[in-house]
Amino acid sequence: MSNNILIAIAWPYANAEIHVGNITGSHLPGDIVARYHRLKGDRVLMVSGTDSHGTPVTIRADAEGRPVEEVYQRFHNQFIELFKKAGISYDLFTTTHTTNHFKVAQSMFLALNKNGYLYTESRPQWYSPSAKRFLPDRYVEGTCYICGYEDARSDQCDRCGNVLEPEKLLNPRSKVDGSTPELRETKHFFLDLSKLEPVVAEFLRQRQHYWRETVVGQSLGQIESEGLRPRPITRDLDWGIPVPVEGWEGKCLYVWFENVIGYLSAAIEWAQITGNPEAWRDWWTDLSAKAFYFIGKDNIFFHAAWWPAQLKGVGKEFIEIFTGGEGTLLNLPYDVPANQFMNLEGQKISGSRNWAVWGLDFLSRYDPDALRYYLTINMPELRDSDWDWDEFIAHNNNELVATWGNLVNRALPFAYKHWDGCVPDPGELRPIDKEIIATVERGFQTVGEHLEAVRLRAALVETLRLASECNKYQDKTSPWFEIKTDKSAAAKTIYTALRVIDSLKVLFAPFIPFSSELLHAYLGYKQPLFGEQYIDPQLDKLGAHNTLRYRTPKPGGSWEPSNLQPSQRLEQPAPLFKKLEPLLAEEERRRLEKLE
Ligand SMILES: [Zn+2]
Repeated sequence: MSNNILIAIAWPYANAEIHVGNITGSHLPGDIVARYHRLKGDRVLMVSGTDSHGTPVTIRADAEGRPVEEVYQRFHNQFIELFKKAGISYDLFTTTHTTNHFKVAQSMFLALNKNGYLYTESRPQWYSPSAKRFLPDRYVEGTCYICGYEDARSDQCDRCGNVLEPEKLLNPRSKVDGSTPELRETKHFFLDLSKLEPVVAEFLRQRQHYWRETVVGQSLGQIESEGLRPRPITRDLDWGIPVPVEGWEGKCLYVWFENVIGYLSAAIEWAQITGNPEAWRDWWTDLSAKAFYFIGKDNIFFHAAWWPAQLKGVGKEFIEIFTGGEGTLLNLPYDVPANQFMNLEGQKISGSRNWAVWGLDFLSRYDPDALRYYLTINMPELRDSDWDWDEFIAHNNNELVATWGNLVNRALPFAYKHWDGCVPDPGELRPIDKEIIATVERGFQTVGEHLEAVRLRAALVETLRLASECNKYQDKTSPWFEIKTDKSAAAKTIYTALRVIDSLKVLFAPFIPFSSELLHAYLGYKQPLFGEQYIDPQLDKLGAHNTLRYRTPKPGGSWEPSNLQPSQRLEQPAPLFKKLEPLLAEEERRRLEKLE
């Protein structure tokens, strides 16, 4: 049975490059799960985009003295280049700065207003007398009133991780000119989350049995201790989505409110681009569809509590307002498998201190599968993990090269050389051959179950274990000796080895798709396992923007054991992975210090 699977991945802010912690936090796990479901034959829609609005972007543009459109586009295009190189196979990676997203977000706002979940209120906000303007959250820094950290942003503290109420900040200072701001009254729309608290709590309780405890426990705990309190959804800023109400010119929808709506608007944009404008409903209103949200731990409450509240609050009215037709409810998240953080050499990754391994820079020196492998085996699924250069090299050399690569490298060139570039005919297989084939075939069940439940480390560890079993099989049977005395025995071994390699290629494919695709071609298959990623520019009234898209192959690979046929023609093989010099770790650490 084919299922509709929505893979929704956190939207990166257009004010900083993407580092390995971001990749392992959300983009890579989402991609692995997407690729697995595509192989299974499910209908996958994987979306995200650049979060182009909000103060992080305007602050960056101010600091550079460049137009904000130019700054957001520069980061947006870098994200696209990185995801293409790293194989993060978005069906659509777009931006929040599109006419479509504006319309979707404004319709959500109007639906919430219609359903009685919005109200307006004047609140004190930091105002800069010197700049004659209000200063939204990140324009103000000061001392955290919870933990005493002196460089807290007014909306969130980077040390204790708490979301802050900006007007409570101690010793405030303006990021624009360092002056001391004062509190002045300004009017805003608020989302009355307290009215939605019972449905959100119930939504979370229903998912308690299968969500990560780190996600559901934290969210329910926060609701039980503090409740869901109203939050402002507009702010005094001119870069963003205008509030769709007369008399509110000069104010915008708050990014926390509109960027999550991107999951929905990106699906709608994808449907429009592909010429089936209603197709997004298969993932958003079909009740059997499953929506997975891949995010880092700093975003848990946004996705596990506030976003479900928004979706519940708009009811059927969003579709009525957006389409002018009959309304339907929108699907809530099926799972929010949030990851913890990855540190770097024992310290917290910090973009501003340059203590980071940047994705594009890394890929200028190393292969994407080496990155994907290490970031999966070391993924911070339940607790923080650490990027360690020695470990990166050790995992690459001991596992990718010495276990999986070695298995392939011993069998494939040997078959190519001794059987005229074809898969040998084994005749009747021996018990030892049948046993290893059955062992690997069971992996489609065990690895598949881990992937369904988003236990990606466990899935990869199990796949690697199966590759080790196959190495033991090759050691035991030793076809390089068999061939000297009994070529038909060697044919059985090499056929069996190629067949388990053909299966393992599929099991490894969601994690390390580039090498699986190469191997797939070496094994003589003409149709690729996966589709292609490509850049697709879109015109828009708000300005042209690039998108990253994915072309689904037909028929493509499938999540099934190998049915390799004797005499299939092989391609001339080459090693799949590169061994790395251990001394590189020192070099990379020096590079970090230099940057710092
Ligand atoms: Zn704090």
